[in-house]
Amino acid sequence: MSKPKVLQLAGKVAIVTGGASGIGEAAARLFASRGATVVIADVQDALGERVAASIVSSAGAGRCSYARCDVSNEAQVAATVSSTVSAHGHLDIMLSNAGVLLHPAQPVTDMDLGLLDRVLAVNLRGAAACLKHAARAMVSGGRPGSIVCTASVASVQGGYGPATYTASKHAVLGLVRAAAGELGRHGVRVNCVSPGGVATPLSCGVTGMGPKEMEAMAEAHNVLKGKVLRVQDVAEAALFLASDESGFVSGHNLVVDGAATAVNPAVL
Ligand code: NAD
Repeated sequence: MSKPKVLQLAGKVAIVTGGASGIGEAAARLFASRGATVVIADVQDALGERVAASIVSSAGAGRCSYARCDVSNEAQVAATVSSTVSAHGHLDIMLSNAGVLLHPAQPVTDMDLGLLDRVLAVNLRGAAACLKHAARAMVSGGRPGSIVCTASVASVQGGYGPATYTASKHAVLGLVRAAAGELGRHGVRVNCVSPGGVATPLSCGVTGMGPKEMEAMAEAHNVLKGKVLRVQDVAEAALFLASDESGFVSGHNLVVDGAATAVNPAVL
């Protein structure tokens, strides 16, 4: 007998930024399969349209569409939220997931501050714009919505990428904690999901490894043995935070890393 599906999103409307690829694509597919109407917001138009069309054609999935939205551009984020509410009546879930890791490790003594600006423009400014406009729509619509930001293990520890990326993800966690405090009075929950390394175009692009090579390296170094982190695992964690089942969870950073940041590797 198949396992009953819990964590349903029937009747909910979700925006998933960065939904054309990797973790965002997996989340868009999962949210739609649990009944949500999903708007994929991304800058890769052909890919985004293709993913949305493939979700629509999947049996049992909710509605899905694609909207071009560069999250570093506040006007585009505001327009995407507004067109989603016009088309579907309300907004319940914002998965602010679009992110960039523009360059491999670089000594801080050589840090390129222009690159820092570009990373912050998407990872922090983008998350702030998504949070701001989603919260406005939820509050004015009287919806106790859920805002989830994809941060990273780099939100709690250094050493998981260059300082520009680590700084941006620490900042996302700060944004989420501050917003959870403010938006609580409106019943709006705000949380982070923080994955460890997972094979996607972003991580493969910066490491120069293929997905198989990345997974083999992860398998060798993981604290949790017998499993490799996949985009679907991260999407499941985001689904929990998006769903009503996490109704009293807010201001939380749900780390999905098989205990990597919980232990001191020197004592293993
Ligand atoms: P990915 O490259 O597969 O997906 C990122 C998506 O974001 C792409 O579709 C891209 O087009 C989109 N995007 C980039 N800039 C954008 C912008 N300005 N506006 C709108 N969309 C934009 O990478 P991924 O690994 O799935 O990354 C998703 C999130 O997960 C990111 O925030 C990333 O920092 C985070 N993350 C990834 C890992 C990992 O190991 N892959 C680990 C921790 C956290």
